Amino acid sequence: MARPVIVVGAGVMGLSSAVRLLEAGLDVRVITRDLPLQTTSVVAGAIWHPYAVQPMERAMHWGAVALQQFYRLLDVPEAGVSLIPLREVYEHPVERHWATDYLRRADAIPANDLPSGMASGFVLEMPVVQMPIYLPWLVAQVERLGGKLEQRTLTALDEVASPEVLVINCSGLGSRDIAGDASLFPIRGQVAKVAAPTVREGYLSEWGDHKVTYIFPRPDGVILGGVSQRGNENLAVSEADAAEIQQRCAAINPALRDAPVISVSVGLRPGRPAVRLEREQRADGSTIIHNYGHGGAGVTLSWGCADEVAQLAVQN
Ligand SMILES: Cc1cc2nc3c(=O)[nH]c(=O)nc-3n(C[C@H](O)[C@H](O)[C@H](O)COP(=O)(O)OP(=O)(O)OC[C@H]3O[C@@H](n4cnc5c(N)ncnc54)[C@H](O)[C@@H]3O)c2cc1C
Repeated sequence: MARPVIVVGAGVMGLSSAVRLLEAGLDVRVITRDLPLQTTSVVAGAIWHPYAVQPMERAMHWGAVALQQFYRLLDVPEAGVSLIPLREVYEHPVERHWATDYLRRADAIPANDLPSGMASGFVLEMPVVQMPIYLPWLVAQVERLGGKLEQRTLTALDEVASPEVLVINCSGLGSRDIAGDASLFPIRGQVAKVAAPTVREGYLSEWGDHKVTYIFPRPDGVILGGVSQRGNENLAVSEADAAEIQQRCAAINPALRDAPVISVSVGLRPGRPAVRLEREQRADGSTIIHNYGHGGAGVTLSWGCADEVAQLAVQN
């Protein structure tokens, strides 16, 4: 009989992996320090975009799998996934958008319709996920399939690893401590959610040094971003970042200038030179499948990684 499974982490990676493991017929318990609405995952914007993640070939494979699942979830209103028109613009000429073969729509913007200073751009039909709705929906799927969630902080994976259980490590940046992974680094992000019901079209500029401008209209408010501060671990809201972000977004869409702020959130993206998704067979007979280090793309890759975790688990 298959060993019972302990998933460490209840962010988007832990919960998506738990769903796929349960669907594969395994006995699953999720252990997490933070409840889902306190994780980095809940801060995400969250669009389908493989930002700050490597290796790109594997990321695009995982992302393509996840994209199809997000399309299917459009038919499940409780999941909180929707499609928005989004303009992605570049300061240099780009003939073909990188996601042309993936997204349902990626049309070039005529030159006379580009914001000033931009050389090219595309109108995309982009999935956007309301994480404060989506994560509880994932928890409900875990529980419906018979999985359990337990709030507990581990100091090391050794506390739960043994030959009798299979451990799935989805602890994000927490793997610095519990897996001793010194290659992980935080990439601080900050977003605001504002009330601006007339703003229906999203916007995304090119990622520059430490900053990017984005506007993601969601049913629960319009998400404004952002910053990308490598090595910064400060989880406190920066008023300076908040003012600068709203100013940048208002320059794109003036309706955002005085939009009332609903909330401001900070999260630390789990940066790593490459995602770690692999099985570790340990000398004591225990097995750990690691699934962490997804940078700014955890939502984008979630279902593809979860499928691979489940495949590794059933081969185990
Ligand atoms: C501002 C911002 C915007 C973003 N926008 C997007 C976007 O548009 N699209 C996109 O795809 N991605 C986006 N991201 C990135 C995305 O949020 C992350 O890649 C993703 O959340 C990582 O998920 P995770 O489950 O691996 O980690 P987390 O959500 O951090 O979850 C880790 C889990 O491990 C648990 N854990 C950690 N340590 C321990 C321990 N010692 N013991 C027990 N449990 C532990 C935590 O409690 C938590 O439950 C954004 C991130 C930020 C900050």
